[in-house]
Amino acid sequence: MNLKLAVIPGDGIGPEVMEQAVLILRKVGDIFGHRFEFTELAAGGTAIDKFGTPLPDATLEACLNSDSVLLGSVGGPAWDHLEVSRRPEKALLRLRQELGLFANIRPAVVRESLRSASPLRDEIVAGGVDVCIVRELTGGIYFGPRGRRGGGAGEEAFDTEVYTEGEVRRIAKVAFRLARERRKKVTSVDKANVLDSSKLWRDVVTDEARSYPDLELEHMYVDNAAMQLVRNPGQFDVLLTTNMFGDILSDEASMITGSIGMLPSASLGTRQEGMYEPIHGSAPDIAGRDKANPIGSILSAAMMLSLSFHLDREADAVESAVEAALAEGFRTADIMSPGKRLAGTWEMGRTIADHIGKNHRRKETI
Ligand code: NAD
Repeated sequence: MNLKLAVIPGDGIGPEVMEQAVLILRKVGDIFGHRFEFTELAAGGTAIDKFGTPLPDATLEACLNSDSVLLGSVGGPAWDHLEVSRRPEKALLRLRQELGLFANIRPAVVRESLRSASPLRDEIVAGGVDVCIVRELTGGIYFGPRGRRGGGAGEEAFDTEVYTEGEVRRIAKVAFRLARERRKKVTSVDKANVLDSSKLWRDVVTDEARSYPDLELEHMYVDNAAMQLVRNPGQFDVLLTTNMFGDILSDEASMITGSIGMLPSASLGTRQEGMYEPIHGSAPDIAGRDKANPIGSILSAAMMLSLSFHLDREADAVESAVEAALAEGFRTADIMSPGKRLAGTWEMGRTIADHIGKNHRRKETI
């Protein structure tokens, strides 16, 4: 394949982890015979410094004309004093809006080699944890009618959860399709015992499930889901939910894995492009010191290969290379444990890249 990729390194550790993700993609391209054309673009704080805006028109234009977008991270203390509409994070919101990204996908995996990093007791995670959260991204209470009125003791403030049938159906389709490629189970999370918007959510998800008779669908109230995620996370495969519930549950699920630097995410939409980024921020406390874990960024590139381009063999090769590097004992500081080999961002990236070559050659000679 010939693919045009927009690359936004961003701020803080963004450029460091992005360098490793690009290295991995180049290696995948060499080995599997694809041509990736990378266009590096400015957004976030560095774009504010250079161009006076967090998302220059040229960046947006290039993203719209690319096959997919890879993002590092944006933000940092240097821009914290700016008013909200001019801050680095505004670039992300506008990109999501312009690219029509309505589905956020966040896998949270407790890897065998990193079981001890989970804050949960070992017997809870021993059976394996591999949850994929599908969160609706452009509707719900964050975008519904809101306001404040009155004054004094009677002052009121309100936010409104609004979902349309179409919004629920399109995110449900994403979850069901994803479950087909995984363990074939969808848990839809709502609060249908209290909220009308959740009743609609449940009705539409139930109806959409009729088109996927090979899948198992269960419904769960959000309070129970929050509890089950720490009691027995291994029961979940795909967890489908609204914007606000997903915001909260996806952070909870990430925490279970114990390693923010390891986790990738994808935002998918109505257009061809998806946007792929690690879940972590710009980590100003370790930026520029070769300390950042690049695996979240590398696995985001693997998600892109699989979800945007259906290059599953290539995505598997990246996943296996990450596993192989961890199995060999390489650890960045955030996931270091006694007896393991401390690696910097650069060394971790190169080790994973080397394994892509090794694994693939081995497969070919079998
Ligand atoms: P953060 O994720 O940047 O850092 C939280 C902690 O995790 C820090 O101790 C950091 O050193 C560590 N950490 C994060 N990523 C790591 C990695 N890859 N390897 C090793 N350690 C890692 O969150 P924060 O400190 O709350 O935010 C810092 C800045 O990032 C803020 O300006 C915030 O607005 C921004 N932010 C951006 C995004 C994004 O670009 N999508 C997301 C979250 C936060």
